[in-house]
Order: sequence, then structure tokens, then C-alpha cells
Amino acid sequence: MTQTLLPTPTVRTARPPSRVGRRFFVRTFGCQMNEHDSERIAGLFASDGMVPASGYDDADVVFINTCTIRENADNRLYGHLGQLKKLKDSRPGMLLVVGGCAAQKDRELVRERAPWVDVVMGTHNLDRVLDLLDHAEAWGPVVEVVDELQAMPSSLPARRQLPHSAWVTIQIGCNNTCTFCIVPSVRGKEVSRRPADILSEVRSLAADGVVEVTLLGQNVDTYGRDLAIDGKRRPIFADLLRQVGSVPGIERVRFTSPHPNDFREDVARAMAETEAVCEQLHFPLQSGSDRILARMHRGYTAEKFLRRLEMARAIVPDLTVSTDIIVGFPGESEEDFQETLRVVEEARFDQAFMFIFSPRPGTAAARWVDEFVPEEVAKERFARLVELQQRIGMELNQAMVGRVVEVLSEGPSKKDPTVGTTRTRGGKVVHVDGLCEPGVFAQVEIVGAHPHHLVGRVV
Ligand code: SF4
Repeated sequence: MTQTLLPTPTVRTARPPSRVGRRFFVRTFGCQMNEHDSERIAGLFASDGMVPASGYDDADVVFINTCTIRENADNRLYGHLGQLKKLKDSRPGMLLVVGGCAAQKDRELVRERAPWVDVVMGTHNLDRVLDLLDHAEAWGPVVEVVDELQAMPSSLPARRQLPHSAWVTIQIGCNNTCTFCIVPSVRGKEVSRRPADILSEVRSLAADGVVEVTLLGQNVDTYGRDLAIDGKRRPIFADLLRQVGSVPGIERVRFTSPHPNDFREDVARAMAETEAVCEQLHFPLQSGSDRILARMHRGYTAEKFLRRLEMARAIVPDLTVSTDIIVGFPGESEEDFQETLRVVEEARFDQAFMFIFSPRPGTAAARWVDEFVPEEVAKERFARLVELQQRIGMELNQAMVGRVVEVLSEGPSKKDPTVGTTRTRGGKVVHVDGLCEPGVFAQVEIVGAHPHHLVGRVV
């Protein structure tokens, strides 16, 4: 029988020897927040004596970190769990954990639809994963989903994908009410982490050889609004950027995501005046139509978005800008879509993450069924947008050919182990022959351009 637990103190007093040496595999769906949480899950597993598996087939413990944002996320999750059932049937000792946003949303429903899952846990109690595994091994399947954050994920041990680069959570949750988004209901209201706590983590990461940190929050520009420290002025994101950027050993600071409605000049100035802060901005447009932006509850117009972007580019030279765009939001007309094309043309994003609208149960937009854009229409618009963005991305990348830029290597490329995957300060991917050791800085000349990456040569 499944047990649903209430949160209990998180201190573990004894470690069951049975899991030492057992192999774990963490599969992540969704956004950077989930990537970050997965690193923490892997860190907790490693702290328990487990070792990484190469995939599902040799794993004793599998953790699926789920997402609810993308198209058909639910169907894909349960399809995926169906495939894992076969594996579990053939390996009875295997433990299957489902966490992340879909688990936070579906709770007991996960086990109703996939009774072979051993642990279902939410986004607020990552720190409990080992206790829940203990419980599942001793007493059987367990569901524990809580509504209040139990521990900032960054306070947990991490097993980083790249040894030189780390995510640092600065804020959890979101106070906005974008009508397409499930995040506020699965991640809760904004909670900022205290700056001293963040800085202490960044210092210890630097001492551990980390040179690049990415500050993570759902809306980093509102960081600190919920913090009052000793009656003094509340910390703001611009202060935090300057402080993190001055930690010795940290050479690159990135952040995601700012919100165009809350992005102010002080943040742009902190970017420009703090050498370690990279010239990279993720600036989610979502739509170029004022009518659709209002229906999305985004809080800005296309004009305001463009003026804020102009301000950022004027203050931060050589800024690389990426965005998110939803095509076919309920009620989107051809005129609305033309507005999106116009804004994309004017904004000239280096990169865009483009999606066809898919309704997320529990969101306002999911209820506007009568106004859903027919699939063929949405697909056709999507293809036009992709074509436009490919052209712009290619033009911007071609303009970089001949320039010499600093890159930081991330290791061999997946397609060709003799070629290194590296990144510019702006976050553009550059493939460089032979630059395969992770964490190495180099000056490279850009010798080739593609829509989504560049080719460079060490100078
Ligand atoms: S700002 Fe909007 S899209 Fe972003 S997390 Fe908050 S509600 Fe979701």
C-alpha cells in the first residue's frame, strides 16, 4: 500500500549500508531549474555511497525529474514510465523515483497511473530523497509532496555535470501569473535566498575549481524583494551580480531568467561594470502582439520590450540575446502573429527557443479551448517563425567570422570526440578542433558560422 507522508526533519543519522556501491541514473526533463535540481539529487545519491550508472540498463536507482511545461509532457512521462516498467519487471531490486514539477502537480495520480513507481516526491522536498528511498525499501511505495519549500536546493551537495561550471539557486518560485504557466502552482511564491548564503556557496565553488556560475531564479530581477535584512535596504539583483562577480576565481557569471517587465537599468549597469558578468541576456518575448501579451499577463507591450532591449544593448556592449516565443496562443490571429514576426525582425535575437502553444492543465490558458488555434495553422506559423529566426541567427553568426573571442571549453563534442565544444562569454557555442579538455580558456578566431553554432581556431 502506498503511504503518503508528511514532512519530517531532514537530518539523516544513519546510512543504510545496502545502497553503498549501488548505481544511480538521473534523467532530467525540462528547464535549467530541473537540471540544477538533478545535480543535487545526484550529489545526494553520491553522498549516500552510490555511484553513477551509464544509463537505465545498469541502474539500481532511477530518478526521473519531470517537467510540465513542454508539449505533451504528461503523455510523454507516462509513456516513459510504461517503458521503465518492463525494465523494472526484469530487475526486481530496481527502485524508481519520480520527482519534479509533474510529480508536484499529479501527486498520488502518478502511482495510480504507474503503480510500479516506488517514490513520488515534489519540487519542495529534494532534501528528503534518501529518507524516502529508505522508506520505500523498508515499507514499500511512498508519496511525499509538500507545498512549502523545505530546503533551498543549493544547500544540498551537488554532483556537477561540468566540474568548472555550477548552477546557483538565488530564488525559488514566482509571483507572476502568466496564463500559460504552471510554475507558480508547482514551485510556489517567490522565495529569495539570503545574499550571504549565496556568496558563501559561490566562494566555496571557486575554492573547488569552479570558474563559471549561473544564477538561477524564475524572475531574477525581483530577487530580494521578500528579504529585509536587519532593517536595512533590501538586497537587489544588481547588488548581487556585483558581489558574485567580485568573488576571486569566478571568471564568468551568467543568470537566468530576467523578466522584461522588471529588467531595469541598474542590472544592465551592473552587467557592464562587473568584468566577470557575461554579456548574455535571456529576454523572453513570448509574443509580439500587445493583445496576446495582455492575455498572457506578461505586463509589458511589444514597444516596452523593444525599448528595454535597446537600453540593455546601449549599456552592455556586444550583448548576446536569446528569447522564448510561443506560437498559436489561444486567440492568436494572423495579425497578432505578424506582430511577433515584426518584433523578432526588429529585436534580432541571437537565439530563440520557439514553441507551439500546448495547454498545461491547471493554467488559465488551458481553459480557453474555444479559442485554441488549429494545429495546422499553428504549425504553419511556427515554420515561418523558425525560418525567420534561422536567417537572423545565421546573419549574426556570420558577422562574427574573423573576430577573435575568448571561449571556455566544455569537453569533446558528442558527435566528434576530436572537436571541443566551447562557449563564448555571450553563450554562443563554438566548435574548436582539439580544444577538448573541459574548463580551459582560449582565444579563438571564428572561422565558420552556422545558424546554431560557430567554428573556431585557437590563435
Ligand atoms: S514569469 Fe511567468 S512564465 Fe516565468 S515562471 Fe513566472 S509565471 Fe511562469
